[in-house]
Amino acid sequence: MTTQTEDAIEIAKIDLVIANRVLARCGAVDAYGHASVRHPVDPGRFFCSRSLSPELVERDDIMEFDLDGKPMNGDNRNIYRELVVHWGVYAARPDVNAVVHGHPHQVLPFTVTDVPLRPVYFGANECGATIPVWDIRDKFGDTNVLVLTREHGEEMARALGPNRVVLLRGHGMVGAGRSAMQLVRICKSLLTNAQMYLDALRLGTPKEMTPGELKLRDETVGNDDTSHATLRGWEYEARKADCGDLLAERTERLKRLTAAKG
Ligand SMILES: [Zn+2]
Repeated sequence: MTTQTEDAIEIAKIDLVIANRVLARCGAVDAYGHASVRHPVDPGRFFCSRSLSPELVERDDIMEFDLDGKPMNGDNRNIYRELVVHWGVYAARPDVNAVVHGHPHQVLPFTVTDVPLRPVYFGANECGATIPVWDIRDKFGDTNVLVLTREHGEEMARALGPNRVVLLRGHGMVGAGRSAMQLVRICKSLLTNAQMYLDALRLGTPKEMTPGELKLRDETVGNDDTSHATLRGWEYEARKADCGDLLAERTERLKRLTAAKG
């Protein structure tokens, strides 16, 4: 393995550890959620922790999988039951490099009523204005509501479509980003927007962000993982989640990788 390949892989793993910790602390996942990132060199593989609560994930817990959800390198540790959420999305969406599944309570009311989750928060451009709801019962009838089979994963990915978030009826959400950094921003935006909308609905008729405002927001922030503003947010979140050492290693490896690429 070249130094460049090793740096790219270690950066991906560091990002996954940081994302796990940050997503846990913001409430996107609890004991039972999980996050993953696509392999930076081989797009037919991805990294995800062994079955472990996200807040506890360390680099050594990370396993490598192919896009059929099979562990690589003979790794036989316990895996998440709903792992198909991840490979279902990676197989359907070549543009997606980071996936999370969680059960945050703020989004659940929008999965069991006919009230759609609408963008009202100024940062709602990050999670997107269109947030579909997938009901596993529509195609599969009575189930235990978990996403467990290849067919479940394919249907869920179809419902996600080109969007960044799909809600799962009575169950939770799946977020899909081009990077771990964007995935964290998607989730924080989703939770804040959902809570703000729930609060606003109690007071009266909420005023939504317009498509034009969301487009201008996208042009201002959120579309560049190397921008100063984006990196400022990532550093803040990582340090708050006690990942300062990982962040320092990430910076060193990225510097070397960027220099090597010339
Ligand atoms: Zn679940």
